[in-house]
Amino acid sequence: MTTYLDYQSAKPVDERVLKEMLPYFNEKFGNPSSLHLYGYNATNTLEEARKKIADFINAPSPDNIIFTSGATESNNLAIIGAAMRRKNQGNHIIISEIEHISIHNIGKYLERQGFKVSRVGVDRFGRINLNKLERLITDQTIIISISIASNEIGTLQPVKEIAEIAQKHKIWFHSDAVASQCSVPIDVQDVPYDLLTLSSNEIYGPRGVGALYLKKGVRVNPVLIGGGQERGMRSGSENMPGIVGFAKAAEIMKAEMSEESARLKELRDKLIQGILTIPKSYLNGHPEERTPHNTNFRFDYIEGESLLLALRDEDIQVATGSACSSKTLEPSHTLISCGLLHEEAHGSLLLTLGRFTEEKDIDKIIEALPGVIKRLRKLSPLTPAKFLEQIKEEEK
Ligand code: PMP
Repeated sequence: MTTYLDYQSAKPVDERVLKEMLPYFNEKFGNPSSLHLYGYNATNTLEEARKKIADFINAPSPDNIIFTSGATESNNLAIIGAAMRRKNQGNHIIISEIEHISIHNIGKYLERQGFKVSRVGVDRFGRINLNKLERLITDQTIIISISIASNEIGTLQPVKEIAEIAQKHKIWFHSDAVASQCSVPIDVQDVPYDLLTLSSNEIYGPRGVGALYLKKGVRVNPVLIGGGQERGMRSGSENMPGIVGFAKAAEIMKAEMSEESARLKELRDKLIQGILTIPKSYLNGHPEERTPHNTNFRFDYIEGESLLLALRDEDIQVATGSACSSKTLEPSHTLISCGLLHEEAHGSLLLTLGRFTEEKDIDKIIEALPGVIKRLRKLSPLTPAKFLEQIKEEEK
């Protein structure tokens, strides 16, 4: 069996979720907008699903949830929708330098529309400095968008403190929860988010469905114009099989997260310990404040892509960074923001664990990686002669 360690980019749909979804493709095909029995049943199903998503994040009411086609759309609806809604109050938006590409590109889009966007930097562990954030705020600031965790380095942000700063300045706080929602509980009554992005696939539901949480009293302008579904904020016939699957995935995750995260944390720590025995290897991201399923390493003198391909030959599937930017040759903007040099950022290896990761997968990569790295270092023009001699000496 191949070893899969790229759960951050894609997760299989849980069998229990798939089973729940199947009838909604044929037997239960109704559209919630219809007034006949099929429509009535679909409306009930839709509202039950909304309640399960609300429960997943401890939202006070199902009315706080809007279904979308996924995290990209939720981020668009949250930030563009809020910017358009609040444009009479100001034109300034703050994001972080290490946001997902969907948020970075929304920032660029809004700049072309005349908004001003500031990007707050991070320390070498990927944490936002709250003083720096507060200094960026002006009387024009209307939205702060900072993810709960980084999808690349897993660093958790001080979201409660960010939310309090936002509240103090009457700024809406949006957070993309995608990189943490499979292993860190979310409580929107504990952290007063105004807007929160959720994705179904991140919790072993189907892809192509997500949600946006909006605090009571927060409304955004729609970005999709049409039939006025989802309280007018997201038009389009609801993706009923997807929504049913998402809700089931949320129900399972809520029930199993605490046990699952404890297990992942143990595996993660074993992985980190094992890999850091390799000479000149380093952990990217925060040593403690990181999601239980994330690890990210770098190795001197080695390129991430060659490492990925060499591990593929060993039947181990890994990533070097975010899947959404993997086809560009640019080094990770997140690692560069943490202060890494270009060549260091190119040498990173992203290993993310999930529900179906077993201890034998961790053992397999811990066993395979030192040999692979040694082999690549022997071939790499970046390896200094002295270090190469050391490797050869060890092999004698
Ligand atoms: N935000 C984060 C943090 C992500 O990792 C991703 C990609 N999984 C997205 C947003 C976009 O998600 P999607 O491609 O499902 O719309």
